[in-house]
Amino acid sequence: MPLYKTQAIVLKSMKLSEKDKLVTFLTETHGKVKCVAKAARRLKSRFGASLEPMSHVSLIYFGKEHQDLYRLNQCDIIQSFQDIKENPDTYYTAVYFLELAGHFIAEDHPEPEIFHLLVRSLREAGNTDSSGTLCRLFELRIMAHAGYTPRLQKCIVCHKEPKSLWVGFSYSQHGIVCEPCFDKEPVEMRIKSGTVNYLKKFLSLNLNHIRRLKIPKDVELEIESITHRLVLARLGRELKSYPFIRQMAEMTRT
Ligand SMILES: [Zn+2]
Repeated sequence: MPLYKTQAIVLKSMKLSEKDKLVTFLTETHGKVKCVAKAARRLKSRFGASLEPMSHVSLIYFGKEHQDLYRLNQCDIIQSFQDIKENPDTYYTAVYFLELAGHFIAEDHPEPEIFHLLVRSLREAGNTDSSGTLCRLFELRIMAHAGYTPRLQKCIVCHKEPKSLWVGFSYSQHGIVCEPCFDKEPVEMRIKSGTVNYLKKFLSLNLNHIRRLKIPKDVELEIESITHRLVLARLGRELKSYPFIRQMAEMTRT
């Protein structure tokens, strides 16, 4: 039976039986993978604390290729992100990242970029004081990797670059509409063209530079309403952790 060795982030860990756990990983080489961790619920389990959600681990598992469940053989912590778990703001931000990654990534489908985006975003969540900006970047990037990049360069109707101060956003067409085309395509939201520039920046920005990015609050709110609606449209429902990060953001705003 093939043996797999890779890095991963623990997305979810749940009770499977009296002794065993069912653990979902986002791996570097095989996308989302579900493993049975035998005897992981024992007090002196050989897996220790490595199966806690959010942990960055190095793991070995085995099983037939493309099956639903694998057997976990070994799991060692690379980084536990304990500092993130101790602060409610960063904790819920990180939980939101795990939920988004869990929903957008398919099982057994390699997404190394998403894996690295998640690891770096978790590291950044512990360092940044603007988790809102990091959340927006993460939402946009994960959607882009899943094939849902919003069309931001040219108007989706006339295919010209918008020149006006305001542009529209069409959720059904997943892109921007210039002012002269407002009557040709239903525009669900009007945003400043400056906001579109920030959206573009989020899609290309090196994560190491996110701390230097200062976004005006009104722009950040506009971006949030767009990304939130795009996520909702793709997933068809609200993620459980979203109300918490909203609440945290409102508390820091006041
Ligand atoms: Zn147009």
